[in-house]
Amino acid sequence: MSRNHELFARAQKTIPGGVNSPVRAFRSVGGTPCFIKRALGPHFWDADGKRYVDYIGSWGPMILGHLDAQVLAAVETALTHGFSFGTPTEAEIEIAEEICKLVPSIEQVRLVCSGTEATMSALRLARGFTKRQRIIKFEGCYHGHADSLLIKAGSGLLSFGQPTSAGVPDTVAQHTTVLEYNNLEQLSETFASIGAEIAAVIVEPIAGNMNLVRGAPTFLQKLRELCTQHGALLIFDEVMSGFRVALGGAQALYNITPDLTCLGKIIGGGMPAAAFGGRREIMAHLAPLGAVYQAGTLAGNPLAVAAGLATLKRLQAPNFYEQLQTQTARLTEGLAQAARAAGLAFSTDHIGGMFGLYFTARPPTCLAEVANCNLEHFNAFFHHMLAAGFYFAPSAYEAGFVSITHDAAVIDATLTAARAAFSALND
Ligand SMILES: *Cc1c(COP(=O)(O)O)cnc(C)c1O
Repeated sequence: MSRNHELFARAQKTIPGGVNSPVRAFRSVGGTPCFIKRALGPHFWDADGKRYVDYIGSWGPMILGHLDAQVLAAVETALTHGFSFGTPTEAEIEIAEEICKLVPSIEQVRLVCSGTEATMSALRLARGFTKRQRIIKFEGCYHGHADSLLIKAGSGLLSFGQPTSAGVPDTVAQHTTVLEYNNLEQLSETFASIGAEIAAVIVEPIAGNMNLVRGAPTFLQKLRELCTQHGALLIFDEVMSGFRVALGGAQALYNITPDLTCLGKIIGGGMPAAAFGGRREIMAHLAPLGAVYQAGTLAGNPLAVAAGLATLKRLQAPNFYEQLQTQTARLTEGLAQAARAAGLAFSTDHIGGMFGLYFTARPPTCLAEVANCNLEHFNAFFHHMLAAGFYFAPSAYEAGFVSITHDAAVIDATLTAARAAFSALND
């Protein structure tokens, strides 16, 4: 029996479902999750010693590949100074300055430990600032697992066919209105009828939790206009897209200025760090300055800050994003070509170091279209690639990630395996 099977059997005794985050289980694709022991660059190795090319990248953070030398050195240095102090540190100022420089809509920023905390805190701040309660979110966008955001919330829930989590009180859910992504008309109608109640609209400007779905520029611009017009705050949840699609995030690509931005994943460089920030006038409502309470024992943890800061510095190397984008395009265009050659209905999209694979003829624009992709084909493709040593996300509702260490040789090897996988789908 494989070591992965043994470990999974053992894990299920003391850990619900054997995993500490549901998306790690192979529930939608079937089979046994791999227990990973170590990683380097674009690869990781499982408990049986089998090597995989990693297209999950810890679900986004590992944009530099695993164990980047400069990040490792920064963490090693921080490690010798102490793990946590519960006091302010100079490195927290440095990373705050770096974030404000790279994402100009952020004038002030607060560090937290997870993306969930970032969005949850941003919402509380938006409600405290506007003195309104209603939140608008979009179907298929995931913003972490806070109660008010766990409604029609993308990948993890979608993989299990549940629109909304149990355990969310009706009295909380009633303040969240869920609209269709990229639906301009529905958005305008909603603002026309309840605009004065809306505290904030939270959106993934480039959605990555229902596979990859681009926000249409007209949709996001309209959103900005309507929020300004009605006194609601626009929150860009860039926990995934931040530093992933471009150095300045999706807001730089679309040239749209949100009121608040949530960051995570890459800003911790693989350690638990996330952040929310925005206009100074809004951020001034946070404790200890203002009446909106928010706190964290390990917020701004020295090891996480060291990893994050070193990562942000590496991303500013000349042509980093051009190179990342070129490598990602080599993968997605190669896959599209291979699938076409095999006569499959298949399409791809990519932005920066993020990509979508769709078993349908054209990239989807909303959740309903994602749900129409051929799931059987996806599952067969996933398992064929996994067996060949290429680890894609175990769900058709996830985006994929390329790191700067996924070079031409790694990608070409992936394409060779994919050709075999695609032709097997036709048998
Ligand atoms: C991952 C993610 C989150 C949640 O972050 P956690 O660190 O898992 O809590 C929130 N929003 C988006 C867009 C994400 O991709």
